[in-house]
Amino acid sequence: MNWINKIKKFGQSIKKNINKKFPTKSERDSSAWTSCCKGPILKSELEENLFVCPNCNKHHRINPRQRFDIIFGKNNYEILKTPIPKDDPLGWVDTKSYKDRLKEARNKTNQDCAVIIAKGILNSVEITVGATNFDFIGGSSGAAETEAIIYGVQYAIDNQTPFVFFPCGGGQRMFESPIALAGMTKTTLAINELKKNNLPYLVCFTDPTAGGITASFAMLGDIQFSEPGALIAFAGRRVVQATVKEELPLDFQSAEFLLKHGFVDRIVERNSLTKEIGLILSILLKKNSEVNSDNNEQTSELSTQTREAS
Ligand SMILES: [Zn+2]
Repeated sequence: MNWINKIKKFGQSIKKNINKKFPTKSERDSSAWTSCCKGPILKSELEENLFVCPNCNKHHRINPRQRFDIIFGKNNYEILKTPIPKDDPLGWVDTKSYKDRLKEARNKTNQDCAVIIAKGILNSVEITVGATNFDFIGGSSGAAETEAIIYGVQYAIDNQTPFVFFPCGGGQRMFESPIALAGMTKTTLAINELKKNNLPYLVCFTDPTAGGITASFAMLGDIQFSEPGALIAFAGRRVVQATVKEELPLDFQSAEFLLKHGFVDRIVERNSLTKEIGLILSILLKKNSEVNSDNNEQTSELSTQTREAS
């Protein structure tokens, strides 16, 4: 009967492992630790390095306020109040109501919608900037996000500033179905207005940017930057693979793959982003005499690389 005891013991150990309590998402969020390539790493240590892993260079996801702190310096910017349309226009309910999801997302992120628009000064140039928070319902785009982007564009036009956007998110928000889809057209038309006014529009992809976000305003930048390793896609890898019925390269839909194929102009490390955006804007706006100097080796090199990429 020894084998019965052995099987019983094995069964008990499986049961013990299955019942093992794993930390919930909120417990992980409130913990001082997170994990990366070499196991646990202190969030404070990561923060000191702009939320980039010092070992593997993974650019960890950050929220818009953290992004603006990096770009402009801590709290050295002004957040603009964007219009919030009526919540839940379709009365959507699935496993829980959309209203409840919005409430949770607002409590969690301290934001009214996934997009924040701000203004600040970068390299002596006043810019209007926007960013998406992935923690707000996966960074998905609904009516409020659309309105925020349009507001940011209009603000940039009224004040004659460049518009810089850091998109992320899985696409249009299914809880607002056609209303969210209409946002793709609306944001595209808004960006066209920016271009009619000859104002630079820069995009910097962050991980992950997908679906309708990639298929509208996020792909229309005059210069398309990306953070290293960002996933940039329209449909998911498995859907594409099933459609084309062939093996896709391992780096398919990564920023590096898109750079090779001309959808991304430059991949920029987070610690160089401020400098690179400032430099590109100076070139586009012809504002900085130093930038126009032929003796400035770095600028000439950057202009050449950018021309080649585009
Ligand atoms: Zn790492």
